[in-house]
Formats: sequence, structure tokens, C-alpha cells
Amino acid sequence: MTTALIIGGGVAGPASAMALQKAGYDPVVFEAYDRGAEGVGTNLVLAVNGHTALHELGISTALDKGFDIPRNRYFMGNGRSLSLVPNGKAGPNGIVSRAVRRADLYVALRDEAIRRGIPFEFGMRLVDAEHTPNGVVGHFENGRKVDGDLLIGADGLHSTVRKIIDPEAPRPRFGRLVNTGGYADGVSAPGEPGTEYMLLGKRCFFSYVHDADGQIWWYAAPHWPEEPTREELAAIGPDEWRGRLLELFSQDKTAARDIIAATEDIWAPWPIQDLPTVPAWQDRRMVIMGDAAHAVSPAAGQGASMAIEDSVVLGKCLRDIPDVEEALGRFVSLRRPRVEKMVAFGKRAGDLMIVSSQFRRRMRDLVLPLFFKRVTLNETASLSWVYDHRERWDEPISAPRIAA
Ligand SMILES: Cc1cc2nc3c(=O)[nH]c(=O)nc-3n(C[C@H](O)[C@H](O)[C@H](O)COP(=O)(O)OP(=O)(O)OC[C@H]3O[C@@H](n4cnc5c(N)ncnc54)[C@H](O)[C@@H]3O)c2cc1C
Repeated sequence: MTTALIIGGGVAGPASAMALQKAGYDPVVFEAYDRGAEGVGTNLVLAVNGHTALHELGISTALDKGFDIPRNRYFMGNGRSLSLVPNGKAGPNGIVSRAVRRADLYVALRDEAIRRGIPFEFGMRLVDAEHTPNGVVGHFENGRKVDGDLLIGADGLHSTVRKIIDPEAPRPRFGRLVNTGGYADGVSAPGEPGTEYMLLGKRCFFSYVHDADGQIWWYAAPHWPEEPTREELAAIGPDEWRGRLLELFSQDKTAARDIIAATEDIWAPWPIQDLPTVPAWQDRRMVIMGDAAHAVSPAAGQGASMAIEDSVVLGKCLRDIPDVEEALGRFVSLRRPRVEKMVAFGKRAGDLMIVSSQFRRRMRDLVLPLFFKRVTLNETASLSWVYDHRERWDEPISAPRIAA
């Protein structure tokens, strides 16, 4: 068997491990933290393209604890409805975009990988790696060294493997926004389950969904002109942060303030970042994937989908191309155009959320209705490249890609 050392037990790590196992490889996953993601409070919407890719790997049960979000509805801060936009066309078997708590997704992916016999090693932080005459060796913080035939860096935005492959690799770019959010109980907000409400507030973007039990999941993206330091953000206490958010939405005629007030634990702010172009994804038998190679702004709602699509393509390349280095090179050339286009899309979406001045807000309020008119009239043409992309496990890697 050919052993693949997979660094990172988030989304890309377990998903690619299961794809490689299907391809006949022997993957082992190494996660820096002790038990992974149980304490991660945030959530995400896995778009229909990523959901379909999970299905192709036979692991869409990882979303069992989530709920479907087939639609987005946009409102201006003054309460004016802009548009109802499908969250991508339904895929095979009626698959649509689905919201899930991040911890539920991570734990379900990990448990399914373990159930399929894939070893997971926790408390294993990779600090270095090198090539050997026959493969690779990974060096871990606890002093252990592990040999393998190839090494896959699925170690997220602040990837160590990216820096091992290229010490000059770019660092993440700050999107001039921070992220925050939470879960609100016992508050009524307009709308129904199945729709994500996007509120383009006068001073800040706000989004919420109703889960099946009546809880409201929300996030907001306040503008932050300069990249904050960790210390700067840590110095903002929970009460001060709640007060600042309530003030940010005080001019809007939406449910944002009620939802914030009804949230017990509001997530402390953290910077929104992306990673536009990483020149080197591969060095011989080492490669990066997922956020390590191409983090997309959360504004696109596509980062996890890109990581899962990567997993399908990486598994297919290793299945169909006998030479490992050639297979990794093929993976990079197949994925780079799509993910870099997605990062650019996410940047534009994030920039639309920035309300740094009244002038900028007025421009946004002029441009957005036109944009939504175009999307509503011609949804297939304008966003189908995002949502209708399908990575099919059963197609050979050389087959031309067919849009759904
Ligand atoms: C606020 C926010 C909202 C988002 N919303 C969405 C959304 O709605 N839809 C969507 O599709 N995407 C969303 N994303 C993006 C999505 O979360 C990421 O794209 C996705 O998690 C990437 O998966 P990954 O496995 O590449 O990285 P991660 O999920 O970050 O996993 C990396 C793993 O590697 C481990 N690790 C790191 N360094 C090492 C090391 N040296 N050794 C061993 N292990 C290591 C980490 O502990 C972690 O478990 C959002 C992101 C953010 C920040």
C-alpha cells in the first residue's frame, strides 16, 4: 500500500483521506489538537456543489445534523426587499445547500473516516517535513517522525505545509471585515426555515437563518479598516462587543438588534481573510489543498465546498495516474483555475459588505438592486459556474468536465 500522511483533521483532511482510501491508498490523518473540533461554535452553509461532492464520496451523512437552505432572500437596511435568489440549482437526488454547525460537520467526517478504518492521530502538530529517497518524512512538535509515500497539507489558512513547500509563500490577506455571530433563542424574526436572510444594513451586513427547532443562527461582518492584532480583538469584552453591535444596527429597520439582544454568547470578533494566489502548491510528493492552498472569503460561502471538491479531484488523480508526482501536479493544474476564480468571487462579495462611508453605502445601494435583477433574470448564466459545478467520482480524470 502507498501511505499518505494527511496533515489536518478539519474538512479537507478527512474528506481527502476517504477519497484516497477509495483510490486504493493508505491514508493516516494527523490533527494538531487533542480531539479536533468539538468546541468550535461557528457554523457554515455547504453549498450544493460541495454537498454533491460529499455525496460522490458517499459521506453526505456528515450533514445529517444540519438543515437545507435552498434560498437566500436579500433586504436593504430600511427593510426593503431586494430579491429571492436560489442558493444554487438542486443537484442529483434533490441535494441542495445545507447549513450545519461546524463542530457537527468536523466530528461526523472524522467519525466516518475512523469507521472506514482510517487512522486518526490527535495532538500531532506538524512542524517540518522533508523528502527522503523513497518518499517523505513528517516531523511533529512532540518529537515524533513519521514516514510516508506522500504528504498532503490540509492544514488550513495558516498552513505549515504551505511554508515547508515554499518559505516565501504569501500570507493571508485581510478583507477589511471581521466576523461575529451566535445562536439566538426565544426571539421571533420574520421568515421561515429554508431561507437565509441577508440584510444589507446601513452600516453593517447581517445574515440569519431559522433552524428546524426555532433557534436563529446569525452572523455579522463589521467593517474594520486596518488588520487587527489578536491582542486588540481580545481586549474587547463580551458586553462591549454586544453594545458595539447593537449600535451598528441602530439605524436599520430589521430584526438584527432583536436577534443580537437574544443571543447569550456572541462570538468574539475575528478577522476575515483569504488567500488569492499561492504560486507553489506542490513540491514533488508534497501538496497542499483546501484553505491551505486557496482560502476563500466566508462571504462566498464556498470554502468548505472547495475543500471537498479538491478531495474528489485529488482522489481521482491518484486513482487514475500511477506516478504520484504527476498525479499531484495534475490535481494542481485541474483545481487552480476554479479555486482562484472562486477566491476572486469571494473578494468581490466581501467588498460589497464593507460599509466604510456613506458614499460607499450609497454606491452599494445603487449597484446591488441592478446586480440582483441580473441574477434573478439570468441566474443560470451568472452564477451557474459557482453552484452547478459537479465533480463526479466515477468519471475518469481525463474525461472532459460536464456541467450539471
Ligand atoms: C467565519 C467563517 C465562516 C465560513 N462560512 C463558510 C460557509 O458558509 N460555507 C463554506 O463553504 N465555507 C465557509 N467558511 C470556510 C470554511 O470553514 C473553510 O474553507 C474550511 O473549513 C476549509 O477546510 P480545511 O480543512 O482546508 O481547513 P480547516 O477546516 O481550517 O482545517 C484545518 C485543520 O488543520 C489543523 N492543523 C493546522 N495546522 C496543523 C499542523 N501544523 N499539524 C496538524 N494539524 C494542523 C487544524 O487544527 C484544523 O483542524 C467559513 C470560514 C469562516 C472563517
